[in-house]
Formats: sequence, C-alpha cells, structure tokens
Amino acid sequence: MSNIIIHAKQKNILALREQRVIELALEHWHNITCLNFERRDDEPKGNRIVFTDVDGCASNVGKHPLGEPQFVSLAPECIRLGVIAHEVAHALGFWHEQSRPDRDYYVKVRWENIDRDSKGQFLKEQPADVDNGGVPYDLGSIMHYRSKAFARYDDLFTMNTYISDYQRTIGQRDQLSFNDIRLMNNIYCQNTCSRKLPCQRGGYTDPRRCDRCRCPDGFTGQYCEQVMPGYGADCGGRVQVGHTWTRITSPGYPAEFREGQECSWLLVAPPGQHVQLQFYSEFEMYCKVRHSLCMDYVEIRNSTDFANTGMRYCCFGTPHSSIVSATEDMLVLFRSFYRGGKGFQAQVRAIPHTGSWSSWTAFSECSASCGACGTQHRTRECRPPNAYLQGVSEKVLTFFHASSNKKLTFGL
Ligand SMILES: [Zn+2]
Repeated sequence: MSNIIIHAKQKNILALREQRVIELALEHWHNITCLNFERRDDEPKGNRIVFTDVDGCASNVGKHPLGEPQFVSLAPECIRLGVIAHEVAHALGFWHEQSRPDRDYYVKVRWENIDRDSKGQFLKEQPADVDNGGVPYDLGSIMHYRSKAFARYDDLFTMNTYISDYQRTIGQRDQLSFNDIRLMNNIYCQNTCSRKLPCQRGGYTDPRRCDRCRCPDGFTGQYCEQVMPGYGADCGGRVQVGHTWTRITSPGYPAEFREGQECSWLLVAPPGQHVQLQFYSEFEMYCKVRHSLCMDYVEIRNSTDFANTGMRYCCFGTPHSSIVSATEDMLVLFRSFYRGGKGFQAQVRAIPHTGSWSSWTAFSECSASCGACGTQHRTRECRPPNAYLQGVSEKVLTFFHASSNKKLTFGL
C-alpha cells in the first residue's frame, strides 16, 4: 500500500466546504487504487501534498526530489471533483495526456491558433521522463486538454483529433477514465494482489478487491464477462446483429429520456464479420458547443481496445458518420449525467469481412479534346466481391484545358 500524506497549509486554510470536496476527491482515488491518503493538520516532514489556493488550479508534477512538499493550488473555481482529481494526479506524477511523446499519432496541434505566450503548454515530454505504464494514449483522459485550450481567440481549435469523431471526447473533467485509473494502478499498485485474475475486455485485477476485476465502462461481473445493465431504464444488453438493420435508441425515443439514465449495448456480428452503425432522425444530447465537448453522450468503441475511451457523439443534429467495428464487436454507451433530452436513434447491422482493393486501372482517354472541358476516369475493385471496404471504387478527373494548353487545373 502506498501512503500519501496531505495537509492544508496553515496560512491559506481552505474553507470547510472546500476541504470536504477535496476529501471526496481523495476518497475517490482511494476507492479505485491501492493509495491511502492520511490527513495531517500539523506540519509533518518529508514528501507530502499541501493544498493551498494561491495559484489558480495548478500542481507540480510528481514527488519533490528533495523531500519537500508538493503544492496543489485549488482556487474556488477549481473546487470540483474532476478538477481536483486532475490536480492530484499531477501531484502523483501524471503529465497532461497531450504531453505524451506519442501524442502526434492521435492529435494534431494547431500551433497557429495557440495564444503566443502559451505555446509551451503544448510541448511534448521526453520519452525518458514519461512512464506510460503500458497504457495507451487516451483521448478521454481527465488529463487531456480540451479542443480550444489556450486559443488566440475563443473559437479557434488548438488541437484536432486525427479521427475527427473523437473531437468531442477530448477535454472532459467529469470523471477519471478507465485508463487514468489503470495507469495509477500500474505505477503504484502492481504488487498489491498476489494473484492476477483472468479478466476480460481489458479489465485487470482490482487492487482494492483482489477477488474481482476492474472493468472498462460498459462491462461488469467478476471477470468483466457481462454487459452492464441499464441504469434508470430497462435498456442495452448484448445484441446479436444480422444482415438486416436492427434499431437501438435512447430510453423512450422519440419521447425524451430522463437525466441520469444509462444504457450499454454490446453489438455482436457473426464470426469474421463487422458491425456497422448509422444514426438517423433527430439527435440531441447535452454538450458545451463553445468548448466542443460532450457533457452527455453516446459513445462508440469500435477499435480492438474496448478499455480505451471511444468516439463521443453529442450536441444537436444527427451525426453523419457510418461507423464500422474493427472486430466482431462494437460497444455503444449512452450516458446522460446532466440533462434529459431527445436522445438518439441508430440502425445497426452486420457486414461481411473487409476485403482489399485491386490496383487502379489506367485512366480512360479524356472525353473532350483540347480547348474544352472533359473527364477521365479509372476504377478499382473490392475483392472478394461481397467484402466491405471504405473508399471509392471510381475516380474521375475533370480537366479544364486552358486554350494556351499550358495551364491545367483539376479536381478529384
Ligand atoms: Zn493540469
């Protein structure tokens, strides 16, 4: 067990209500890791976390090398569970998620949109300074900046996710993600349990309760073998999908769902096939448009890693993406923490295994002679013929031949 000593700094003693929220945030970290926090009202020697309110929401990263205290500053606007959990994570050694050396594979930093004095906030850490505990980059981490953090002007994006459907996943401060907790446990609690359980779906042995697994959102049971039951509604579950469309919706759709309701679906295609999902008709989940951030959401996990946060859909207006799972399974999480609303409706089906593209044929002859506007086209095939692939099977070039015949412009 790791013991961490905390105390509030005498000169800047925080109000009772604020102390209570800090205690709740520490209790949260306590419940989900092997970490124990001990409150001290005297001034002990050695490494310790000291809470003050002198410097906005801020913390140093990691243990002080000379045994001095680590200061965590929580101004009144930072007294929220998620923000405190974030600052405490810094004190325990966490950098910001987008400081990871591998961040460029997940987000593109828009340097041109960052406030001139804040560019340093977006530097990457050196690989030698980061222990990622074997946990992959998580766009839903509580340590990730939001889309428009430190922008020159309010509405500019300073980070774009490479897969655009993850844009509204980044920047949440509501809860520790499964991977935030897993990282803390990998670093501090590796040897807490004598036996490792055969956890499924990316779960791992819970260091607080060594007889069961800690499961990614959407899964439960001793070994994460079950889909989480609906909360506040009879919804979700394991759904076997076939080649005809099946419909899933938020509770009561098209009537409004109620705040607090949760549903989890595990959509399963036949062996070797994939799940396809499309939203249709009215869609509404509460979001912060200004920050491009979901507060309530439908989250879709379609990669091979079900432990990592997925693409979150929210705000008003039907998402147009056609989403395909990388495996036979797709996980859909409906989470309404803040408000009721219209919700969502989607159709899902199984599609055949993915094929591969043949090479392009040569371009056909231009359909017009010089001086006119014409097209050329070429094609490729998806193989085998009943397989599924994203992309186009025909490309058309349109040429506008200038009469001088020197200048060519074309569009694809
Ligand atoms: Zn921070």
